Amino acid sequence: MPFAIDYSLCVGCGSCIGNCPNRAIIRRGGQVAVTNMCCDCGICTQYCTMSALSRGPVKTELNNKKIDKALKQKLGLQKHIAAMKFADSAPQGVTVEQGPHFWCGICGDIFDGEGQPVFFTAKASSCGGCANIGIGAVKATREEFETALNAQVIGEGNLYADKEVMAINRSLFPRYPKVSGGMVLGSLDQVRMPDAIIFPVNGRQLCMISTAFAFDTGEIIIGYAGKSTCLMTVSAPIAENRPVFSAGDHGGRMFMRLQDEEIVVCFPYRLVPGLVKNFDRTTFAQE
Ligand code: SF4
Ligand code: SF4
Repeated sequence: MPFAIDYSLCVGCGSCIGNCPNRAIIRRGGQVAVTNMCCDCGICTQYCTMSALSRGPVKTELNNKKIDKALKQKLGLQKHIAAMKFADSAPQGVTVEQGPHFWCGICGDIFDGEGQPVFFTAKASSCGGCANIGIGAVKATREEFETALNAQVIGEGNLYADKEVMAINRSLFPRYPKVSGGMVLGSLDQVRMPDAIIFPVNGRQLCMISTAFAFDTGEIIIGYAGKSTCLMTVSAPIAENRPVFSAGDHGGRMFMRLQDEEIVVCFPYRLVPGLVKNFDRTTFAQE
């Protein structure tokens, strides 16, 4: 149960609607209502002058193991779900990835159920993609960036884009509210309270997800194509708190070991509990 509104106090001003980071509050049937997309952050209470908003009777389910299990079961996922958690240093017990490695390659390992969570840094990254996911960008010198680009990933017919395209991607760094020292990458069942999750789906599973996500709010999920997988999948969920789907790029697909029918979806974690709850309300649950 999400946050609740005391209708004896609510005057329907709508101040809470525009100030909910999850866009979880809507107008329905002439009333303001809190939907399942609420993650119990409590921000809305600061904007209600009538003190009409308070915690509901049951907490939002944020337990990573339970969410992981529910997503896999409800969607019939065959692969694992990767979780991303930004941090400036490696949490206790998490191995620091030495590299050289690709973010997409580590995701591919996780999708296939391989390995333990690692702390991935710009230093361990073998391409400029670390900057696309908001780690290490301000610390990488131009020389380091050039070295990474020239190492193996640029040029006609090679895995990634050319230097000019990478430079355009790099100019998007300020979209991140914060550039972190690194990112914990691991299977969702092993990473508590991640910032975002990413996993491969087929067309039917994406339809199930988009239907559940839109259920109360009418929000759609936007897809991106044409740039690197990391930039197209991680930026929007982190910078704008909204999900995306993407076909990825050649290198990303290869390192993620995606099958032809698979694309990836990336969700801010705070939106996932509501998504899981809404699965049971969609037409797919009737089949
Ligand atoms: S997500 Fe946060 S701001 Fe939005 S309704 Fe729930 S508690 Fe309020
Ligand atoms: S801010 Fe408070 S009074 Fe205004 S619509 Fe939201 S719950 Fe009702």
